[in-house]
Amino acid sequence: MPAAENPTVAMVEAAYRQHGLDARYLNCEVAPAALGDAVRGARAMGWVGFNCSLPHKVAVIEHLDGLADSAAVIGAVNCVVRRDGRFIGENTDGQGFLTALRTVVDPAGKSLVVFGAGGAARAIAVESALAGAARITIVNRDDTRGAELVALLNERTPADAELVVWQSAYSVPDSIDIVVNATSIGLFPDLDARLGLELDSLQPGMVVADVIPNPPRTWLIRDAEARGCTVLDGLGMLVNQGVIGIKHWTGVDPDPAVMRAKLEELFG
Ligand code: NDP
Repeated sequence: MPAAENPTVAMVEAAYRQHGLDARYLNCEVAPAALGDAVRGARAMGWVGFNCSLPHKVAVIEHLDGLADSAAVIGAVNCVVRRDGRFIGENTDGQGFLTALRTVVDPAGKSLVVFGAGGAARAIAVESALAGAARITIVNRDDTRGAELVALLNERTPADAELVVWQSAYSVPDSIDIVVNATSIGLFPDLDARLGLELDSLQPGMVVADVIPNPPRTWLIRDAEARGCTVLDGLGMLVNQGVIGIKHWTGVDPDPAVMRAKLEELFG
């Protein structure tokens, strides 16, 4: 995909233009073996920071000068910020999710079900726990990965976490307030993919969120909406992690509406 059409690039640069910022956001493909050189290059060129995505989110840590608190608990970095000449690793995925979530519900004291135990699920579960979520049920296919995340939550955050190994359609208990798909199920081009979920267990009082940004209206979002749930699509998380990154790098609080509009234009 040409750099100009990369959705994250287009979203961030739309914000830079809107706010008249003299900055550029470039998409660079970095091979794993060249990661250290790339970070040294960013320092040498005086970059104020950068995002990094898979497969660099964990490997980048050894090349940084420090970690923000939640990034240290999550054990992964997607946003690097230069502070007093030092490169500090942040994790803005979970923070972006929380900003979107708080437009409809405060997770403090709430019970969550999170599908998945990968990078997105880790970031969302840890940030929700640090924000005061009372109980978090991780539903994951791979029991080892699921158990690791549950242990992390129980040991490093105040939340009570438990694992359900995902072998058949999961029925969401009535006590749950917030349901999150943090798996890659439904991501383009797998448009017909649906979660193994008893749809009748979704109740109108629940908030149902999907991390999938493309397409924004996944089956989960449509099914939950049809059952009267409050829904949050994956664009909110993507936009808000961008908002937080831009604020870190430039000090400017960008307008999320401009960034969302750019993504909607690209994702239809
Ligand atoms: P990972 O590869 O780290 O984790 C993927 C997770 O999805 C694992 O828990 C995996 O389960 C689960 N999974 C995948 N396919 C299936 C399946 N068929 N059935 C059951 N479980 C499945 O990916 P990430 O966590 O980094 O990303 C997950 C999604 O989040 C991606 O689609 C990405 O686009 C999205 N994302 C969105 C962001 C946003 O801003 N909106 C930000 C970051 C990510 P198992 O462990 O059993 O293999």
